[in-house]
Amino acid sequence: MKSPSIVKFIRDTYQTNEFIPLHVPTFQGNEKSYVMETLDTTFVSSVGKFVDDFEHKIEAYTGTAKAVATVNGTAALHTALYMAGVRQGDLVITQALTFVATCNALYHMGAEPVFVDVSPVSLGLCPKAVEAFLSDQAEVTETGCIHKPTGKRIQAVVPMHTFGHPIELDELLAICQKWSIALVEDAAESLGSFYKDKHTGTIGDFGALSFNGNKIITTGGGGMVLCQLSDKGGRAKHVTTTAKVPHAYEFFHDEPGFNYRMPNINAALGCAQMEVLDNYLQQKRCLAEHYRRFFSGSEYQFFSEPNYAQSNYWLNAVICPDQESRERLLKETNAAGVMTRPIWKLMHRLPMFENAIRADLSFSEFIEEHLVNLPSSPVEVK
Ligand SMILES: *Cc1c(COP(=O)(O)O)cnc(C)c1O
Repeated sequence: MKSPSIVKFIRDTYQTNEFIPLHVPTFQGNEKSYVMETLDTTFVSSVGKFVDDFEHKIEAYTGTAKAVATVNGTAALHTALYMAGVRQGDLVITQALTFVATCNALYHMGAEPVFVDVSPVSLGLCPKAVEAFLSDQAEVTETGCIHKPTGKRIQAVVPMHTFGHPIELDELLAICQKWSIALVEDAAESLGSFYKDKHTGTIGDFGALSFNGNKIITTGGGGMVLCQLSDKGGRAKHVTTTAKVPHAYEFFHDEPGFNYRMPNINAALGCAQMEVLDNYLQQKRCLAEHYRRFFSGSEYQFFSEPNYAQSNYWLNAVICPDQESRERLLKETNAAGVMTRPIWKLMHRLPMFENAIRADLSFSEFIEEHLVNLPSSPVEVK
């Protein structure tokens, strides 16, 4: 299959001759009226009804015990790791194939990443590879799970649901329980994605969502911590709001807190976007099916959701037959005004993580060399 026919297919799908971006938001519901309401009432900042409404909407939709709105997804991850007990000097197992925010969040807790390979089924952290790493290099002691070669504590495992495809969560959860390690899900890309009948981000002790401009719904910038236990949720809210003990006028803060509150003006956007989420999901799943049919029988392999899951298909992806065809596809589509993108550079290739402990990453490296993301904004497929 030649790139020009791929360009034509995408142009026909989006019915435009203009530039086609990878993923852009649309505001056709109550976004304007809710945002105007925050201006009219002056409640634009960290207090207001939209923050509470948005948290409740996310709780109802995902089934999490407590959702805590934050300024962005990285802040949500940072809070989730803090709540999961990650501290200075700890190790955190995650994937090298992820967006840098996953690693930045644990780095700023004073922890170091350990990179383990991703699964061909999900493109997210591979439970078998995690188990292999732990059985080879770790032991459970009274102080937790210890990495034998360094003596450091392995406090958390952070899988990321790549492009919205849920990882094999039952298997990973069992491993975390066996090895006494907290499970924190980076669900930044997977709002609307379900593992079996559970929403992603609600199976681990904590999960983090992102509402950045390129995600499935947006609040401009924003995130949410999902807490499986409601008392932990209360504490997560407390630490993201400067750990101030409620009082009519006294300032007393009982631990070093964060100011990670989502402003009400952003939450207003979030409430309106939640009202149209189902519509986006339906359109994105149809679009994915449309791509799947187009590529079926070709040498390009469209990446489909795992059979145990329902994915939001945040970003559609094809695996090219070889590196040369991948380069050609990237060059020719972008030159023709159709945005496509390679996957992120693997984390262990970035200067700050190049010395991180890592297991065999051959499947991540294969994906890095062969995968291309395709335009994925919600659209009515004709
Ligand atoms: C978008 C994203 C984040 C963080 O999101 P921000 O809201 O931009 O801080 C974290 N992890 C992954 C995998 C993401 O894609």
